[in-house]
Amino acid sequence: MDENSPVSVLKGVGTRLQSKLEDLGIFSVADLLFRLPIRYQDRTKYTPINELNAGSEAFVKGIIEVSGIRYGRKRNLITVISDGSGRLTIRQFYFSRSQEKSFQRGALIQCYGEVRDGPSGLEMIHPEFRLSKEKQETCLEKNLTPVYSRVDGIGQLRWRSLINQAWNICTDRIINLPDFLSPNIECWSLVEALKVLHNPPPSALNSLISGIHPAQKRIIFEELLAYHLLFEDRRNSRSGLKAEPIISDSNLWLKMKMNLEFVLTQSQIRCIDEIMNDLKKSIPALRLLQGDVGCGKTVVAAAAVLAVIESGHQAVIMAPTELLAEQHYKVFSNWFNKLDIEVGWLSSSVKKSDRRLIYKSLHEGDIKVIIGTHALFQDGVEYNSLGLVVIDEQHRFGVSQRMALWKKGHADNKVPHQIIISATPIPRSLTMAMYGDMDISTIKELPIGRKPVDTVVIPNTRRLEVQQRIEEACASGRQAYWVCPLIEESDVIHAEAVKSRAQELKKGLPGINIGILHGRNSLEEKEQIMDSFRLGEINLLVATTVIEVGVDVPAASLMIIENAERLGLSQLHQLRGRVGRGGNRSACVLMYQPPLGNIARERLSTIRQSKDGFFIAQKDLELRGPGELMGTRQSGAPQFRVADLARDHSLLPLVQLTAKDIQKNHPELVKPLMSRWINTESYFSNA
Ligand code: ADP
Ligand code: MG
Repeated sequence: MDENSPVSVLKGVGTRLQSKLEDLGIFSVADLLFRLPIRYQDRTKYTPINELNAGSEAFVKGIIEVSGIRYGRKRNLITVISDGSGRLTIRQFYFSRSQEKSFQRGALIQCYGEVRDGPSGLEMIHPEFRLSKEKQETCLEKNLTPVYSRVDGIGQLRWRSLINQAWNICTDRIINLPDFLSPNIECWSLVEALKVLHNPPPSALNSLISGIHPAQKRIIFEELLAYHLLFEDRRNSRSGLKAEPIISDSNLWLKMKMNLEFVLTQSQIRCIDEIMNDLKKSIPALRLLQGDVGCGKTVVAAAAVLAVIESGHQAVIMAPTELLAEQHYKVFSNWFNKLDIEVGWLSSSVKKSDRRLIYKSLHEGDIKVIIGTHALFQDGVEYNSLGLVVIDEQHRFGVSQRMALWKKGHADNKVPHQIIISATPIPRSLTMAMYGDMDISTIKELPIGRKPVDTVVIPNTRRLEVQQRIEEACASGRQAYWVCPLIEESDVIHAEAVKSRAQELKKGLPGINIGILHGRNSLEEKEQIMDSFRLGEINLLVATTVIEVGVDVPAASLMIIENAERLGLSQLHQLRGRVGRGGNRSACVLMYQPPLGNIARERLSTIRQSKDGFFIAQKDLELRGPGELMGTRQSGAPQFRVADLARDHSLLPLVQLTAKDIQKNHPELVKPLMSRWINTESYFSNA
């Protein structure tokens, strides 16, 4: 038995548990040690009841004063305990008859749980507890208690037991990789770091919570390094793949360009050159096209698509939502129909019978260009000769997915070229960590003649003034958006919030046509609403942040955002980018709920003062506190296990240096490092 033995050598691991673990990427005993706790509990001391705070977790010890069932809307077992400093209620909804009996007056109870405000003072709902008659008993722990992320069928005790067993086997011989990283990262060896993370001393609690403990840094560093190596590896293996070289005279594109009612910016021209240059090669392109909102990325993609069509191959344009795909469909049809090119459409809402026809034409190569959603890559879709895949506004589209796309369109072992269009500007310091496997083209300027959007920040107590502003704007034929940001995670509640805000606005603005758009609308409803908004039948569109990405209605010139302090800066910038697209001077009103903290104030003033998406993204990164959720999570960044780019980006330069060193001096370590951190199944299966 050693660290490389399969997990089945451990006590209690049968075939079922083994396959569950394997689903999580845990195959060997050593893999278990890299299953790190997601947080910690402090059971090293009891908190006196009078020092408890609602919202935090605590370990409490007390004597049961009274316990009994209360019949309300729901039956609950209420137990009041006291430790001499104060009283705490324990509330349970699920309990057996024998449990009920064991909660006896005078018994000693120790419980761990979250403290909340209850109807009669502080309470814990279903805490973990231990009852005893022996008054002296304690079950204080020496160290912090690790909590592993929940997996059905593998409880916390099971995790702890598995990891303990793994330690026993691995001690002294752990993990063949030498600790070459340690000199860089505060001298922590890998073993030391792992030991502490699975079993930290109480003094480490605060730094662990902030994610700045040296043991964490050591591990985070290694994960970032593994991804960096993965990206480099993907780059290298890409050069071993074959793609169809796209040879064209750009006749179609020249024709389309003549029909455009604007001239391209220098940046657009340069990006088109870069892409065309890629496409000519017989190595598959993988290029990120990025640029600020409204800089004109779509037309750049169109140039590439036309070259592919002209060279006799097929092109696909995929968007993350139906709304965006629809809009692209309209834009591209408008451009391409003039060139006698028909644009196909495919989404999950296309009827089965129609879909079969589309599949057939795609397979036979009759459809040259098709636009849609993920449905474009479902099983059953086969392309005749797929030359190019364009993925627009790629957030929610991860590294593994962009690799998986290569599986499609395989003909004679050839894979399509890929262009990925990023919706949000990414701070330069993060591009390597998010898109290290790609080449990058950046559109650096907005088309000339764009009028800047006037941005104001006001407390939401001044809502009436804002309504008046909408009234004036609509009276002069303009249109407006009113965005209610997500406050609850639930779609339903969110939709309700939007509806009730719209009701209020209807009362305040009787002469104005108000449309409502939210995530619960059906696709047809969404389309209908967007169409009437585009046509000007709807003056004011009250919406959730669904309109954040890509939606283009030039006549809309006023953007109101409620509770702007809750949104990320990049998101605000995206929303603001929905206006300022037409000839009118546009405005963006950011309303906030006072009082504003210092950071919130600085954030909002950044967005008021700057219109540069890259600068704003960098500020966003700097102004977020550690541990806060970051937009990058949905934006196609790798799904890290321990790293968080918002918190850990300062490690990146060192990661790059170390990666170079490893590639040069320890190439044999590259694969083991990658496979330790990254589920290689999904990343390498199609290499
Ligand atoms: P994004 O980069 O945010 O996807 P779009 O490609 O949707 O932006 O372009 C925004 C708008 O600007 C579109 O209406 C598009 O036709 C227009 N546009 C694109 N390039 C130029 C240009 N060089 N000059 C003027 N308008 C342009
Ligand atoms: Mg776009």
